[in-house]
Amino acid sequence: MTTLSAFNRFTSGLAEQEALMPVLFVGHGSPMNGIEDTEFSRRWIQMAGETPTPKAVLVVSAHWFTKGTKITAMDFPETIHDFGGFPKELFAVQYPAPGNPVLAKETAELLHSAHVELDHDWGLDHGTWTVVRHMYPDANIPVLQLSIDYTKGPQYHYDLAKELYALRKKGVLIIGSGNMVHNLRMAAWDKLNDQQYGYDWALQMNDKFKQLIADGDYNPLINYQTIGKEALLAVPTPEHYLPLMYTLGLKGSNDTTSFFNDKTVAGSLTMTSVKLG
Ligand code: ZN
Repeated sequence: MTTLSAFNRFTSGLAEQEALMPVLFVGHGSPMNGIEDTEFSRRWIQMAGETPTPKAVLVVSAHWFTKGTKITAMDFPETIHDFGGFPKELFAVQYPAPGNPVLAKETAELLHSAHVELDHDWGLDHGTWTVVRHMYPDANIPVLQLSIDYTKGPQYHYDLAKELYALRKKGVLIIGSGNMVHNLRMAAWDKLNDQQYGYDWALQMNDKFKQLIADGDYNPLINYQTIGKEALLAVPTPEHYLPLMYTLGLKGSNDTTSFFNDKTVAGSLTMTSVKLG
């Protein structure tokens, strides 16, 4: 038992501070970004340098889709290798960031609209560690995950996110980790590294999503299923899109909106990422 975990038992140690932490939506893409030096992983490193050092990181990952809402509440979350068919180096990665059980409990209490279960079984899945290990390679900042309740729709998640707003004043960096356009079934693997190539509907929806986000016009994004058939091709299943609802729900009135890693992968995925604040 380390000093850190003993400390965590008593207090999250997070006092209110003046500056609001920004909020991110990160397109995580292939798990290989977790070990490769790509233009995406380089931008994640740069983003960490541009952001005040957080007291903790809370990730809403596309890869933790549960009935009900859970938050990781262990002292030391495991690194989860939740994928198949990748090289053994990727399975060997450990990201030993601590958790923060007290912050988990405080966060659960903030979320009045959900019954949040304190979880001791999950850990950090690849939606989290492939990104965060580049941002904070020393693994000395506590990292928590909040699950996505798959029984609920986008409006619910957008509204729930608002209840997390106080964490932005406490130095917590909240990251939604998914991919806005994510249609693996239609992926053109022969175009994997042609980042200008995209199906018409993928490019169209990437532009549309960006425009709506830039304009702060979130209603059509919450009701993406009514945009048209292009949106249904871009978001054939909701898990990689819903993390965006958490990012948008956390927008404050003075936040500016910017984009990064605005590229396509294999024609049917976008890495397009958003910073608010
Ligand atoms: Zn993913």
